[in-house]
Amino acid sequence: MCNFRNRQSSQILVFVQLKNDTYFYKMKLKLLVLFTALPCVSLFAQKDDSAMFRKISDEIMLHGQCYDNLRILCKQVGNRLSGTAGAEKAVVWGEKAMKETGADLVRLQACDVPYWYRGKESLALQYDKKGTFRKTTALSLGNSHGTDGKVLDAEVVMVHNFDEFRALPNDAVKGKIIFFNYRFRQDFTFTFNGYGDGVKYRWASPSIAASRGAVGVLIRSMSTGADDFPHTGGMHYNDSFAMIPEMALGNYTADTLERNCLKGIVRARMQSECYMKPSKVRSYNVIGEIKGSETPEKIITVGGHLDSWDVGEGAHDDGAGCVQSMEIIRAFKALGIKPKCTIRAVLFMNEENGDKGGEAYADTARVRHENHVLAIESDAGGFSPRGIGMEMSEDKKEKIIKYKDLFLPYGVYDFSREEGGTDISPLKKELNVPLAGLLPDTQRYFDVHHTNNDVFETVNHRELKLGAVVMAQLIWLTDQYGL
Ligand SMILES: [Zn+2]
Repeated sequence: MCNFRNRQSSQILVFVQLKNDTYFYKMKLKLLVLFTALPCVSLFAQKDDSAMFRKISDEIMLHGQCYDNLRILCKQVGNRLSGTAGAEKAVVWGEKAMKETGADLVRLQACDVPYWYRGKESLALQYDKKGTFRKTTALSLGNSHGTDGKVLDAEVVMVHNFDEFRALPNDAVKGKIIFFNYRFRQDFTFTFNGYGDGVKYRWASPSIAASRGAVGVLIRSMSTGADDFPHTGGMHYNDSFAMIPEMALGNYTADTLERNCLKGIVRARMQSECYMKPSKVRSYNVIGEIKGSETPEKIITVGGHLDSWDVGEGAHDDGAGCVQSMEIIRAFKALGIKPKCTIRAVLFMNEENGDKGGEAYADTARVRHENHVLAIESDAGGFSPRGIGMEMSEDKKEKIIKYKDLFLPYGVYDFSREEGGTDISPLKKELNVPLAGLLPDTQRYFDVHHTNNDVFETVNHRELKLGAVVMAQLIWLTDQYGL
C-alpha cells in the first residue's frame, strides 16, 4: 500500500514539472504529497512493529532459555501439587530462575493452599463371577476421599450419562460402584470445548451417586488419547452426601470395562488412602518484574501456574506457561527494551485445586489499588500458538484485532475466543482487568493433561518458544499503544 502511494506521488511530480513550475502546481503538489503520505504514517508504524515482532522472535527462538528452564523444572523438581515438598521446591527454583532472567525485582507472595494427599491406591476388576480380579491402572481424582486404605468390593453398574443414572431404580444404585462411562467428545475441533462438556462427570459424579446410596465411582478419563493413561484432576463433594471414592480409568481400560458390563456382572475392588488434609499450608506465588520507564504504575501481568497434579512432571500443565512467562522478562532485558509500563511475570500457586495464588494476587492488587492494563495467561500447553483469547470489552478487543496481521507469520490467526485463564480470572472479577489467554493448538493437550505422560519429552522446544514469542509481542504492543 505504501509503495503504491509513493509511486503515485512521483507520477504527480513528473506531471507537475511538465506543466511549468508555477506556485499553484507547487501548492497542489505539496497537498497531494501530504495527502498521500499521511496514511503511510500508520503503515510505516506497522512496518516498525513487524520489525520489532521479528526482533523479539529472533531473540527467543535463537537464545531463549525457556526450554532449558522447563527441563530443570520437570527433571529436578518434578511434579508439585500444592502443599507438597515438590511445590516448596518449585517455589525455591522459581525464585532463583526468575532472578536469572534479569528482572528488576523478584519477590514471593504468600498464599495458604489446601494439601490433598494421594497415598497408595489400587483397582482390580473381575469380569465374570468365577474370574480372578485383574489389577488395572487407575488414578484417584484430586480432592477425593479414598477408602481409608480398606478394600471396597462391590458390583459395577455402568451408565453413559447423568440421565441414564437418574433413570436407574434405587436398588440398582444402592451399594454399587457406578461407572460413569461418558466419552470425551471427539467431534469438537477445539478440544477445550470437549473438556468443558465432559468435566462435570469428573467433578460432580461422586455426590450425585452418593445421594442415592452408591458407594464408589469410576469414570472414563477426560481424555482425547488413544491410549490407557488415566487422567486425574479436581473433583468436588456436596457436603450433604457421603464422600465416596472416585477413580479415573484410561480409555482402553474403560473400553474393556464397557464391553464386560454389557456382557454381564462386573465387580471392582477399590483401595485408596487419599484424603484432603484438614489444615492449609503456607505457600507462595513467585513474582518478577521490569519496572516501567514512563508509567510504572500501569502493570501488564503475564503468568502460568507453578503447581501441578502429583503425576507426571506438569510439563504442559503448566510448566510451559511458567517458563514462557519468565522468558518474556529475559527477552525484554536482553533486547534492551525499556517498557513504559511495569511488566510482571507471575508463577501462580494452586491453580489445580483451589486457585489460592490467583486470589491472593488479585486481593493484593485491590488493596494496593494497582492499575492492571492487561493480564495474560498461558495454561493450555506448550504447543504451537494459534490464537489469542480475550475476555475484555469489545473496543479493547478491536484494538488488539487491529494488529492481527502482524501475528500471522507466527501462526496466530484466531482472535475469536472468549478465553483468559484461571489464575488471572480473580483480577477480572475483582478489578475488571482485561484478560488474554494464549491459545496453542489443542489437538494433543488432552492426551497428556493430568497424566503420568505430561513430561518434558512431550514438549517441543520450537513450539514452546513460539508461545513465548507471541505473548512477548502482545505485551510489547500493549505497552506501546495502550489498551
Ligand atoms: Zn493448568
